Amino acid sequence: RAGRRPLVAGNWKMNGLKADGLALTDAVLAGVRGGAWRCELLVCPPATLLSLVGDRLKGSPVRLGAQDCHHKPSGAHTGDLAAPMLADIGCRFVIVGHSERRADHGETDAEVKAKAEAAMAATLIPIVCVGETLAMRERGDALKVVAAQLAGSLPVGASADGLVVAYEPVWAIGTGRTPTTADIGAMHQALRAELKRHLGAESDRMRILYGGSVKSSNAAEILAIDGVDGALVGGASLKAEDFLTIARAC
Ligand code: PEP
Repeated sequence: RAGRRPLVAGNWKMNGLKADGLALTDAVLAGVRGGAWRCELLVCPPATLLSLVGDRLKGSPVRLGAQDCHHKPSGAHTGDLAAPMLADIGCRFVIVGHSERRADHGETDAEVKAKAEAAMAATLIPIVCVGETLAMRERGDALKVVAAQLAGSLPVGASADGLVVAYEPVWAIGTGRTPTTADIGAMHQALRAELKRHLGAESDRMRILYGGSVKSSNAAEILAIDGVDGALVGGASLKAEDFLTIARAC
């Protein structure tokens, strides 16, 4: 893995009231305590829980991340959150360009790139998500389309430690379906080649995660694929035991 420490990130999406968030955090922390973790652990709660969960995570090896940020550092953008605000409350990471945001909010590659650059300017590590639809895969266009998506979404000037890419096939998210291990491996190779074309040698140490229906039962197989440097986990991250089983599979 060329010195790339695996990252297992939980995307809680729009789930959880205060009590749920705290219970999940405490269960994760109880499982994490005392273990030596080969992978880096990250949870990305909804914005309403960031401070609460972040306070609980203090002093633990589990990092805090947000699910989105605005591309501007402040201003008249009702309802949005700026990257410096997220950094200010203890976030280290922020997911940008998740397919649900691309679909629900019409986010384009250019916007995702601007968000990733805003995140970096605020010393956050953006997790830039890319992935094909089922129609694209069935047409045989997946590699081409996703490489182009990455090229359009990549922030300028990213350092190896300052950027994470997540390959998340849209049709695999929340569906229980996953690509074959060969298809995941081929996509990760294509993405690394694309990263190298844009960012040069710096890209060798950048992590490329897989996301899309990763669960405790398939994590070991997926995380063993050459070029897979961790997982972005949605549904299964809402159960501490499943999340930690996935992390242990690194
Ligand atoms: C995600 O939304 O990032 C995701 C991978 O979801 P799930 O694990 O539920 O497929």
